[in-house]
Amino acid sequence: MTKMIASFAASSATAPLGPHKIERRDPGPHDVEIHILYCGVCHSDLHTVRNEWKNSVYPVVPGHEIVGRVTKIGSEVKKFKLGDLVAVGCMIDSCHTCPGCKKGLEQYCETGTTFTYNSPDKHTGKTTYGGYSTSIVVDDQFVLQIPKKFKESQLPSVAPLLCAGITTYSPLRHWKVGKGSKVGIVGLGGLGHMGIKLAHAMGAHVVLFTTSASKVQDGKKMGADEVVISKNPDEMKKHLNSFDFILNTVSVSHNLDAYIELLKLDGTMCLVGAPPTPHPSPTITNLIFKRRQIGGSLIGGIAETQEMLNFCADHNIVCEIEMIPIQKINEAYERMLKSDVKYRFVIDLASLNN
Ligand code: NAP
Ligand code: ZN
Repeated sequence: MTKMIASFAASSATAPLGPHKIERRDPGPHDVEIHILYCGVCHSDLHTVRNEWKNSVYPVVPGHEIVGRVTKIGSEVKKFKLGDLVAVGCMIDSCHTCPGCKKGLEQYCETGTTFTYNSPDKHTGKTTYGGYSTSIVVDDQFVLQIPKKFKESQLPSVAPLLCAGITTYSPLRHWKVGKGSKVGIVGLGGLGHMGIKLAHAMGAHVVLFTTSASKVQDGKKMGADEVVISKNPDEMKKHLNSFDFILNTVSVSHNLDAYIELLKLDGTMCLVGAPPTPHPSPTITNLIFKRRQIGGSLIGGIAETQEMLNFCADHNIVCEIEMIPIQKINEAYERMLKSDVKYRFVIDLASLNN
């Protein structure tokens, strides 16, 4: 049994998003059906809608920062009950048996993670559809608990933790950021603003690199100890050879050397931004002479996502958001392209029921 529900979809790389009906399955024994309340808007949604990564299957229904209420559960579901407030992030399934999955790294599943949207759907044989919709059905192992410490009024600001939060939390943990670390965050958008808040809460000295002079004060309010306008070479030079770790969230191709030079001996720059075209190759001597490293990181596993939600609840960390009705989504994308996001758009899905 399936049912038809309301969503917003893109029908091609050049079409604006608009209303579209999609099919959702009835929950199986291990499934949870969730009525979606809020869904964050990630730059990855825009990359996918416009086929910038050349892998989009249309129609695309984006959305992987989902918060909602449980409306049905399968007979074997023990972790959740009707009415629970829950969350779904970027993944809804994986093989559970490969070395990655066994270590709780489902995002690196060797047989292929099922992402929340634009992935082959094992149940329907079609494509997965994300959170720009009124409901979703997900295997309970991929559903997160929203910590009780969050108030219901905070739910819209919790939603973007499911991607922007975990994508910055995971590399900060992996590269052991903490007290005594000097950490750079490049780009003050959805990911970047969470990177600042999380690195600050972990005890690091945080430096924001931004191209937008108008964001300096906001960066400091979020926990940046220093803010550097990255277009200004003199300001950049002051930080040469000084960083333990830099998290680069920029969504477009750019010169990495300007940041690599700021790493100290054995320092690492982790790229999480996923531009559609490659960065120019960095200067290799810049890496060799200080044993510097460039790495990458993809979201985070399910257990780590729950750990991040609990960490945020304990430290009273939520996202800075601008709530929009779904009918404003195309305008929001245009603003995102101008770096005019303060600092995550979140869709109020009540607007889709109207
Ligand atoms: P966003 O909100 O649009 O933020 C990107 C920020 O990059 C902008 O706010 C801007 O910050 C900076 N920027 C934009 N254009 C720039 C330019 N030409 N030069 C230098 N800086 C520029 O995007 P987001 O949602 O945070 O996502 C960022 C990237 O991460 C996207 O590519 C997305 O697909 C990717 N992503 C990756 C993962 C993963 O698992 N690795 C997960 C989610 C998203 P300033 O104004 O401060 O300069
Ligand atoms: Zn995302």
